[in-house]
Amino acid sequence: MLNNPFQNALDQLQKAASYLEKDSFSKLEILKNPEKVIEVTFPITMDDGSVRIFEGYRVQFNSARGPYKGGIRFHPQVSMDEVKALAFWMMMKCAVVNLPLGGGKGGVTVDPKQLSEKELERLSRGYMKAIARDVGPLVDVPAPDVNTNPQIMAWMVDEYRKFKNQNSKIKIDKKNEGPEVLAMITGKPVNKGGSEGRTEATGMGGMFTLQAVLKKLSLSSSAHFSAASKVADSATGSSKIGANAPRQLIVAVQGFGNVGFFVAKLLSEKGFKVVAVSDSKGGVYVKQGIDVEKTLECKKKNGHLEGCYCKEGACDLAFGKRITNQELLELPVDILIPSALENQITKENAPKIQAKIILEMANGPTTPEADEILHKRGIIVIPDILANAGGVTVSYFEWYQNRNNQRWSKDKVNQKLKEVMNESVDSVWAESQKHRIPLRTAAFILATKRILSKIK
Ligand code: NAD
Repeated sequence: MLNNPFQNALDQLQKAASYLEKDSFSKLEILKNPEKVIEVTFPITMDDGSVRIFEGYRVQFNSARGPYKGGIRFHPQVSMDEVKALAFWMMMKCAVVNLPLGGGKGGVTVDPKQLSEKELERLSRGYMKAIARDVGPLVDVPAPDVNTNPQIMAWMVDEYRKFKNQNSKIKIDKKNEGPEVLAMITGKPVNKGGSEGRTEATGMGGMFTLQAVLKKLSLSSSAHFSAASKVADSATGSSKIGANAPRQLIVAVQGFGNVGFFVAKLLSEKGFKVVAVSDSKGGVYVKQGIDVEKTLECKKKNGHLEGCYCKEGACDLAFGKRITNQELLELPVDILIPSALENQITKENAPKIQAKIILEMANGPTTPEADEILHKRGIIVIPDILANAGGVTVSYFEWYQNRNNQRWSKDKVNQKLKEVMNESVDSVWAESQKHRIPLRTAAFILATKRILSKIK
């Protein structure tokens, strides 16, 4: 399979291996294999009365640091190799941000856009019923990912409660769900045990990460980062490029779902100029900058993003420049933010990328070959296992609140998230400076050491 994401993940691990102590090599084999893979088929009754069989997966990669943790994806491309890769990256990500969690991931091979609301609910419940005996608050804690959301988490937690009730003498009332049910999944609606700040957490974490890296770059004068030191001198979106006066940093975002929308919105609120966004159908490029929230409204109204040009509260499809996803990746911007799927930046387009910094909000958007090319070109890649770890961090906060019957304010959640992201950037940055290596390899070294130290 071309660009098999799991093979890519193992290649990334291999790069970090040469920086590890020799006596950890044998233990490293443990991290190349998931502890448990679950493959299920389950029936769903469609609205027309027919029955369709769906395939689902849950991969429990490693639990050395704590319960497995990772989202559930509904997408036609979901396969065992993809879910294994995503579970592996979750294991690494939780260790990079130092959470007491392991790595897992799940998915169903389905195009949810072809389902009615009722069919989507039956699919969500059917999948949870199929994996219920393998998950739980201290075992494996799922969350949202591509095409899944708080409502889907609510259906799943309800299905899990039914499973518990069928298998225990003490019945749990829907209105009195305690930690043993609520803490089995994160990303729930706030009125159903979800945490404040979880919906925007991945984008928010990405923003904190980018700000922290920009701050580092202005302090660093090392040769390895020389290209980027031209880019940024502050964490507020203003920069000096060449000898010119400070100007806004220019950003393009691929993917306009939960992660892409929030990272674009939050960065534009901080003074960055977002000039392009895209979704699976294509995108829009507005050199003067995009009104991110209005553009989302335009997409919802018209059913697509292409062409949406919004200014002073009004949107017009005639004015926005339509661009393909490929064109978006190659735009003349300072910061490129892939926020969709794997394998978007490849050896074919890496030589054409004009951004100086890539903030990987999607999981696995850059292939290993592309990584090499970007590195040689002096482009800084802020790796997925650091950049998008805000989501799992606030998921951890949600799990913690559920287990301890607490409710934190949004300010508290965001403040704690900022602390975690800043500390993680500090640690990854230090490792990168120590060995003069890219941030991805540095993050892998840090995570691998932390995981291996828990394996006796
Ligand atoms: P989502 O379903 O909310 O949005 C996905 C977006 O990507 C949609 O706008 C979709 O149209 C677009 N898309 C799909 N295929 C595309 C393509 N070929 N080209 C361009 N755009 C395309 O999903 P999400 O939760 O925003 O997740 C996006 C990425 O972020 C995924 O890689 C996911 O694993 C990762 N991630 C998500 C979270 C989270 O908390 N949701 C956390 C960490 C990482």
